[in-house]
Amino acid sequence: MNALNLLFPGICALCRRRSQRDIDLCRECELAFEANERACPLCAEPAPVNAADGICGACIAAPPPWAKTVAPFLYTHPLEAIIDGLKSGNGLLQARILGALLSRAVLARYANAPLPDALIPVPLTRKRRFQRGFNQAELLANVVGRTLRLPRQNSLMRIKSAPPQRALARAARLRNVRGAFAVRRALSCRRPAVVDDVTTTGATVRAKAETLLAAGAEEVHVWVAAKTPAP
Ligand SMILES: [Zn+2]
Ligand SMILES: [Zn+2]
Repeated sequence: MNALNLLFPGICALCRRRSQRDIDLCRECELAFEANERACPLCAEPAPVNAADGICGACIAAPPPWAKTVAPFLYTHPLEAIIDGLKSGNGLLQARILGALLSRAVLARYANAPLPDALIPVPLTRKRRFQRGFNQAELLANVVGRTLRLPRQNSLMRIKSAPPQRALARAARLRNVRGAFAVRRALSCRRPAVVDDVTTTGATVRAKAETLLAAGAEEVHVWVAAKTPAP
């Protein structure tokens, strides 16, 4: 047994070999994750190589109501196994892995900018939360909050469960999530980052950001471990 095994006894959650570092994911498996490269800094969708500041055409034409999105990976194999695992079992192992990766991506993105002042996990509906027993976004926000020393605030409530967004056209998605979120009590932060495991549609992100801005936030940031790849 070499010194790294003694120092870091972690086992890789994907290949079950010694991870040899302080997270339960080995370097080889992490390298197999699909990086969300050339993503627009505002919406995290792919942006043209020569775009000004990397911002995509859609965000230039109609800037989104949030300040930036951090989404270091695409929700594809093999990362999807970690994310799917976050929602089954107790989710803690996966939350530690994804939280470490997300924290690292955040630190890189905010090297020259102040961090948000609080983390707000994306809420589940009451029913879903009851069925699962926990909210995976809270687990993730806990890890990121501990790593970056940011408080977690459960300020958002999901008041409407929406049918799956992906099957709907854009206008229908916007209708679908309108009124889906509300603020639980007076907001005590000014620049929150909304934290979730995966972001799917811009319409849902828009609904959360608009709810927080209407409740007095000055700007809203969006942090997710992975982005669903563009169709
Ligand atoms: Zn591995
Ligand atoms: Zn964009």
